[in-house]
Amino acid sequence: MSKSYFDTDNNGHKPFELPGARPHYNPDRPGQVEHIFLDLSLDIPKLCYQGSCSIRLLPIRNGIDRLTLDAVNLNIESVQVDEVPQNFNYDGEQLSIQLSQSTQIGKRLVIAIAYSVAKPQRGIYFIQPDKHYPNKPTQVWTQGEDEDSRFWFPCFDYPGQLSTSEIRVRVPNPLVAISNGELINTTEDGDYKIYHWLQQQVHPTYLMTLAVGDFAEIRDEWNEKPVTYYVEKGREEDAKRSMGKTPRMIEFLSQKYGYPYPFPKYAQVCVDDFIFGGMENTSTTLLTDRCLLDERAALDNRNTESLVVHELAHQWFGDLVVIKHWSHAWIKEGMASYSEVMWTEQEYSLQEAAYYRLLEARRYLSEDSSRYRRPMVTHIYREAIELYDRHIYEKGSCVYHMIRAQLGDELFWQAIQTFVQDNAHKTVETVDLLRAIEKATGRNLLFLFDQYVYRGGHPDFKVAYSWDGDANLAKITVTQTQAAEGKDGNKDLFDLKIPIGFGYTQQEEVRSNGKLSTQDLGLKTFTVRVNEREQSFYFPLENKPQFISFDVGNNYLKTVTLEYPIAELKAQLEFDSDPISRIYAAAALAKKGGLEATIALSASLKNDPLWGVRVEAAKQLAKINLDQAFDGLVAGLKDKNAYVRRAVVEALAQIKTAESYKVVRGLVQKGDPSYYVEAAASRVIGAIASANLEEKPKEDKVLKLLKGVLEEKAGWNEVVRSGAIAGLAEFKTSEAALNLLLEYTKLGVPQPLRLATIRALGKISVGQSPVNLERILEKLTELAKESFFLTQVSVAAALGQMETPKAVGILRSLAEQTADGRVRRSAEEEISKVQKNIGSEKTLLQLREDFDQLKQQNQELRSRLENLEAKSK
Ligand SMILES: [Zn+2]
Repeated sequence: MSKSYFDTDNNGHKPFELPGARPHYNPDRPGQVEHIFLDLSLDIPKLCYQGSCSIRLLPIRNGIDRLTLDAVNLNIESVQVDEVPQNFNYDGEQLSIQLSQSTQIGKRLVIAIAYSVAKPQRGIYFIQPDKHYPNKPTQVWTQGEDEDSRFWFPCFDYPGQLSTSEIRVRVPNPLVAISNGELINTTEDGDYKIYHWLQQQVHPTYLMTLAVGDFAEIRDEWNEKPVTYYVEKGREEDAKRSMGKTPRMIEFLSQKYGYPYPFPKYAQVCVDDFIFGGMENTSTTLLTDRCLLDERAALDNRNTESLVVHELAHQWFGDLVVIKHWSHAWIKEGMASYSEVMWTEQEYSLQEAAYYRLLEARRYLSEDSSRYRRPMVTHIYREAIELYDRHIYEKGSCVYHMIRAQLGDELFWQAIQTFVQDNAHKTVETVDLLRAIEKATGRNLLFLFDQYVYRGGHPDFKVAYSWDGDANLAKITVTQTQAAEGKDGNKDLFDLKIPIGFGYTQQEEVRSNGKLSTQDLGLKTFTVRVNEREQSFYFPLENKPQFISFDVGNNYLKTVTLEYPIAELKAQLEFDSDPISRIYAAAALAKKGGLEATIALSASLKNDPLWGVRVEAAKQLAKINLDQAFDGLVAGLKDKNAYVRRAVVEALAQIKTAESYKVVRGLVQKGDPSYYVEAAASRVIGAIASANLEEKPKEDKVLKLLKGVLEEKAGWNEVVRSGAIAGLAEFKTSEAALNLLLEYTKLGVPQPLRLATIRALGKISVGQSPVNLERILEKLTELAKESFFLTQVSVAAALGQMETPKAVGILRSLAEQTADGRVRRSAEEEISKVQKNIGSEKTLLQLREDFDQLKQQNQELRSRLENLEAKSK
């Protein structure tokens, strides 16, 4: 690890550690927790429950006379050990039990805690209809990860303790209760029913769960094990559409991981107002009900499929093999994210998987450049939840891919299977993965982990190419631009062996054994060691290559800037079999600009076999300021693939002309088979119409159009109407647009639409009059008081876009008052954004003043010049 928490030098990147961050360690173990038994009775209308928690503990040493459990905001009624009442202290966060008899090695004890909970803030969530949302379902669900189980039951709450568990819960009819493991008993009890679940494989407290609701149950199976989907009644078809591939995924992952699905059942429960996308509780994954797709949404939404395979992969990586400490969470999150890539490869194609991986890499790269840079493994933070970022998910996935590229497919899977088999039902740290790789393959990949896991960052390569025709020599110059010049930069250098390919597109006549034959030369590849800031490599070649493929396979996590002549870039865009290389070529071509690049990109948008490359070609075309680029782009609206049409519409936002306005307006009016394309059109029409066009469309006409969308297009997850909201937010000086937005922040507006509107308030605020700005601030102050996690996140996001110091005050109080570490962190990050916004606004003002001054001086000079000229005549 390159950085300690005392180190402030971070290469110009913002630090990950916020004030108050400190090292976190697992606590000392009094012994092994063997079993946890919760016996609960829910009173849903009163948002409370009561019951008992029994923990069986096998002491690790003699003479322990005090046990400390995590337990937050519970009402502890009594504590018994082996049925003998004990003295205890409870401060609202930790329960300290004074043992009347100190421990003896090997002599188990059962701690029984009677407790109740009223109106819990975290850990367990009660969902009910209210006067604003009368159709909301009645549900109770839990979320333990990372350290929230202690908010719903007392426990030794860290992932280093694995035990079996059991939950018996009494719920009112007709609700059902789903939990980990097997349902071993149900009992009718008047208007209530008691569900009794038993999890016989050990797991950590953060994976214990309970989900209660009036669900429809859809039964599927894999190898005679039940695979069940629970959804709100009426959504059975959506459930099958969204989760129906689960049994095939279980089969796929069982094969890949070399370990059959380890639990007695696999349930997925879709719950309302879930605060994450999904949570991989052991054998019982909870998912947000927003992942349920209708027929139209399934057209261009792969997110749900990815979510389903991600949570399923955790059943092995996370639940069967458990991380010992949060600092190693990348082991499970990286693999779960990589399972999305693997599944894409299995279900669609290798090329689609490569594109998926590029998108993951970009999400990490964007966090690295705009938020902070950190080692993937670090135990220095304020709250563990801060670690759940793009580093451990997306970068983690890219690291698994690099391991695969290093080892090759066969050895990679042997290593992974060894890791899973050796560590099943145990806890692991990063070093255990290295050990498993070495055990299975003999390879020591510490050099890779040192560079990509234990320190932050990645290489930024600049690659230049030239051809010496006299000597038939290709020269490739590679610069690692992330490292500063001179000795200071050395610590940021990467040392990697990188394959460089020379591509030949034409068939060549080859003489062998005296016979003349033709063969496709394809790619001629050499591997070079890149370990300095700037290195030039010379390759003697028989013929001039048509294109150059740097890092063949694009297996390394990196950025690249290609400095090749236009002919080579065009050839690469057309002929390189690696879609990622084609995408890099597209970006380099757009940078060159001009008609030749435009024609090549237009052809790529029209002809590339992979939709992902067509998407990228559209994005790049929009960067070229030529009428021909617009023509090429618009042709892409006819693409059969909805992702491409969406990208084309989004790209049109960059071309703010009357022509692009007309095209997008046509789309808003006549619609598209895809929700997302329609949403993009509504968003983009706002962006174009609010710009300074020569023939500017009347504002009220556009607002009317968007208002029409809001009135008529209620549909799946409010995607389309949220697009119209974003379109309205582009009218930053319009009071009418603001008034319309404020309407949609009211309670009673469907949740997703309301959240989108709250976010949009930030964007529209920057051009509003002082009076209207006040109205926005007042509204956000009011909204910040709502306790729902997603509302708070949206409020913080809105405030972060504002350019007034008053936003800082609201963010501060949000950070202070929130119960959630992630909201706190995001509020604090938004504060620095606002401060930056204010700064840049000041700079802009200064620039404007300077400019006006210059203009005036210029005019004076000109006048003088004219005078001189007049005199000289
Ligand atoms: Zn995950």
